[in-house]
Amino acid sequence: MITVSEAKDLISEHVISLKAIQIDLSEAVGHRLAKDVYATQHIPGFRQSSMDGYAFKFDEHLQPLPILGEMAAGSTATVTLQSGTACRIFTGAPLPEGADTVVMQEKTIIKNGQLLIQDDRLDLASNVRQSGAEIKKGALAMRKGDLLSPAAVGFLAGIGLNAVEVFPMPRLCIIVTGKELQQPGQVLKFGQVYESNSYALKAALQMEGIKEISVYKADDDLEVLTAILQQALEQSDVVLLSGGVSVGDYDFVIEASQRCGINQVFHKVKQKPGKPLFFGTLAEKLVFGLPGNPSSVLSCYYNYVLPAIKQLSQKESSNSILNAKLKTPYRKPAGLTHYLKGWYEDGFASPLGAQESFRLSSFAQANCLICLEESGTDFPAGSPVTIIQLPL
Ligand code: AMP
Ligand code: MG
Repeated sequence: MITVSEAKDLISEHVISLKAIQIDLSEAVGHRLAKDVYATQHIPGFRQSSMDGYAFKFDEHLQPLPILGEMAAGSTATVTLQSGTACRIFTGAPLPEGADTVVMQEKTIIKNGQLLIQDDRLDLASNVRQSGAEIKKGALAMRKGDLLSPAAVGFLAGIGLNAVEVFPMPRLCIIVTGKELQQPGQVLKFGQVYESNSYALKAALQMEGIKEISVYKADDDLEVLTAILQQALEQSDVVLLSGGVSVGDYDFVIEASQRCGINQVFHKVKQKPGKPLFFGTLAEKLVFGLPGNPSSVLSCYYNYVLPAIKQLSQKESSNSILNAKLKTPYRKPAGLTHYLKGWYEDGFASPLGAQESFRLSSFAQANCLICLEESGTDFPAGSPVTIIQLPL
């Protein structure tokens, strides 16, 4: 059996990042840019009023100015300001030729159709956005590797882009195995349990912005599972299996993956929960066999699947691993790394109740997993530990 850190290293060594693709900007949030983006034009493309008011020539601002003409946002005609006049103007409108300054309407008096400016803080070019003030033609707008946040998406749209080159999100298939599984919403018969793993995994993937997620259900049957796994491998970059990965008579994940030609990288990790974890590859595709217990599934997801998915999309693992102090004492046997559902606050991590791997009730309240290293047994209050902050 390998250690947690060996398992993490092995996965990381086997991940080959997905090739860059071009996508619509409207689909791009959460991706990383695959190349530098340059502005192809000045933005704004013209001198623009930032206020509702009047445009005029600054040299003439002390005199009463007759008001001639009007420029509203969207005015496309080029208008020239007559010397000694002001032009009514609205936010976002282009300045007439010859005007260089705007006064906001609140700082004016109109008397007999003449504009009197009452703004002693007015300067040349006040309330005017210069052409290229946001970005100049040819300037670097965003860099390769930058994360496309909502603001970044808006910025790129604002400089005229409707498509970008990004590192894609992987396509995923989730295969839940188990004859005992019943769909939530249906009546639970004797011996059945509700199928929750595909819900938890899909929710976790959706939080990463992954959209292409297919869910399959397989009975504990080698032929059926092999066929479904084969199909999943054809249509996805990552396959997540849940259950059937141990040594029971009805655990067929290992055999099905052999039949599909998957190269086993490891099976079993010195950890609790999630000891039977399986990882393999088929060409550049990744296959995770996650133990069926709901807490094991999610613990393995956060520890192994999520970092691999981020690596596929060239998102460096965020700094979700923190140092903390244990708030209450904890004891465990030596030999396995333990991941405890926990609550992290102000530098302290508290183990929650319901630590058994079949239970999710405290996971549903947790904001971190507390990592207790393999060889340790006694962890008094105040012990230094690492925690994985859960993306909530
Ligand atoms: P297995 O790894 O297949 O032996 O399953 C371990 C435990 O997890 C069993 O009690 C299963 O009933 C349970 N389990 C397996 N798959 C799921 C699932 N998709 N949703 C909820 N519980 C599951
Ligand atoms: Mg099973």
